Amino acid sequence: MALDILETTPLPEIEGRFNAMHQASRSGPAWSKAQRLVFLGKLRDVATTARHDIAAAISEDFGNRAVEETMMAEIMPSISMIQHTAKHLAAWMKPEKRSTAPTFWPATTRVHYQPKGVVLIVAPWNYPFQLSIIPLAAALAAGNRVILKPSEFTPRTSSLLKERLEAALGPDVVTVATGGPDVAAALSGFPFDHILFTGSTAVGYKVMAAAARHLTPVTLELGGKSPAIVHEAADVTKSAERIVRGKLLNAGQTCIAPDYALVQRARMPAFLDAYRSVTKRFYPRVLDNAQYTSIVNGRHYDRLMALLADARTRGAAIEVVDPAGELPMGEAGSSNTRKIAPVLLTNVKDDMAIMQEEIFGPLLPVVPYDTLDDALAYVNARPRPLALYYFDTDNNRIADVLKGTTSGGVTINDTLLHVAQEDAPFGGIGPSGMGAYHGREGFLAFSHAKTVLHQSRFAMTGLADPPYGAAFNTIMKAAMRMAGGGRG
Ligand code: NAD
Repeated sequence: MALDILETTPLPEIEGRFNAMHQASRSGPAWSKAQRLVFLGKLRDVATTARHDIAAAISEDFGNRAVEETMMAEIMPSISMIQHTAKHLAAWMKPEKRSTAPTFWPATTRVHYQPKGVVLIVAPWNYPFQLSIIPLAAALAAGNRVILKPSEFTPRTSSLLKERLEAALGPDVVTVATGGPDVAAALSGFPFDHILFTGSTAVGYKVMAAAARHLTPVTLELGGKSPAIVHEAADVTKSAERIVRGKLLNAGQTCIAPDYALVQRARMPAFLDAYRSVTKRFYPRVLDNAQYTSIVNGRHYDRLMALLADARTRGAAIEVVDPAGELPMGEAGSSNTRKIAPVLLTNVKDDMAIMQEEIFGPLLPVVPYDTLDDALAYVNARPRPLALYYFDTDNNRIADVLKGTTSGGVTINDTLLHVAQEDAPFGGIGPSGMGAYHGREGFLAFSHAKTVLHQSRFAMTGLADPPYGAAFNTIMKAAMRMAGGGRG
């Protein structure tokens, strides 16, 4: 059990660090741009120099995680986000000139972006490195001190993060608090200046409730069931290939993995054929293949097996894609390696658990639809998803889908890729999340936007002082006209 090998940072120690950080954040000026760039440089050095150790730790934590997946989906995006942040930091930090209402001329108005202070980052296990480092880069860029709580399900990675980050940045800048949900729950009750939580919707409720005690603002990066809709006009083979890529990366343990596919009824057989054959091409073997990732732990393995069993009992058709015949007939996985083969499910119904819960594994229910309106109604009748994927060639229909659905983000004619755009916000809506980060939005999430009006010595505002009389009325009439309120 993962927790057995994870050292828990004692709570009094974290409390001591928190108090010191809190005090430091309330005394002295905010960190300069130069200092923040030094922090970002150190963070990049950790990502670069520790990358092989990180890939090894994650693979051991998962049972097996393809090193290539760690490089592509954890190390590379972290380094590019740090570089993007460093490149734009000066522009983001610069006070922004805003227009001053004419009545108050010649005063000037600017917005200053200040660090919020001490922030908590809570990370999940599925991409344990990038989901710690990318928020950390944003928080440091904005000038904050940080307590990071990585997941207990990836104990080796969490210990490595603690060792490397505290050594590189100093525990007065970044403290890594390791431990289980008890540590996380205790931490989310501290009076932080901001909390960025990435994890399940169920725990998101708890974090927000705990944060409310101190009116701590939260960014919640949650999960949900992200649909992929394949229109009859789309290239069915290409669509299937891109859905396989998004679904089977990290064996489906990706917050924005396509959860289920909605496929126009007439295209179902072609889609299923294509999905099957692309899967076989990508993963000719399942068990004896270091490039196919395991399910993170026994609890999640059992959860996925239970989803399959429930669907089977309720009448779903289940097809296990096991190209080399490594699994016994009728089995979808092997519990000792915790690998689950890619599975296609058809004839699924709403009362099945697999159509209610976020799947977070390599199982793809494929649901037929007749008209695009039916598909959109299906999506809109369910909680707003973190991501939506739409495959089509017609730009007018694409525009209709974008207008007719609300999701955290969208990739058209592919999957996952919107998350990799450093210059665009990433976040959910409703049950899939609140707020956003990445790029400038990350800097803003951890900054306080402070409006500063600088009065001029030629200010006219004194003309509206009491006792009110004729001069006041004339000024008010003029001000009303300037504000667009007519002749007054
Ligand atoms: P989880 O909610 O079980 O745990 C996430 C973190 O929260 C862990 O560090 C855990 O220790 C901590 N935690 C547990 N109880 C807590 C409490 N009471 N208060 C505060 N923190 C607590 O999630 P998970 O299983 O690690 O991750 C999978 C989920 O995360 C999926 O739903 C997935 O969609 C979502 N996710 C979302 C994103 C995103 O960017 N939106 C990214 C990755 C994963």
